[in-house]
Amino acid sequence: MTARMNQQQFENFTASSLYCEKCKAAMPVRERLLLVLPDREIFDYLCTECGSSVGRREVTAGEKMMAQAIGAPRDGRSARLG
Ligand SMILES: [Zn+2]
Repeated sequence: MTARMNQQQFENFTASSLYCEKCKAAMPVRERLLLVLPDREIFDYLCTECGSSVGRREVTAGEKMMAQAIGAPRDGRSARLG
């Protein structure tokens, strides 16, 4: 039962509403790819109301690979050959 709650919290975190200092409230945000580096990607979160930057997120190559592995479980067979 609690597992379901945890999943919901995680979804809220990724879909995100962040506190905007200009609007003085938690606002819905949109994610913008800010910078692509060899080992990570940096995303900027912009307030949908006033457009100011309210947060930042880094996705490392390791995290991306993990997300892909979860998204495509049948690739586990070929991974044994590598
Ligand atoms: Zn705002």
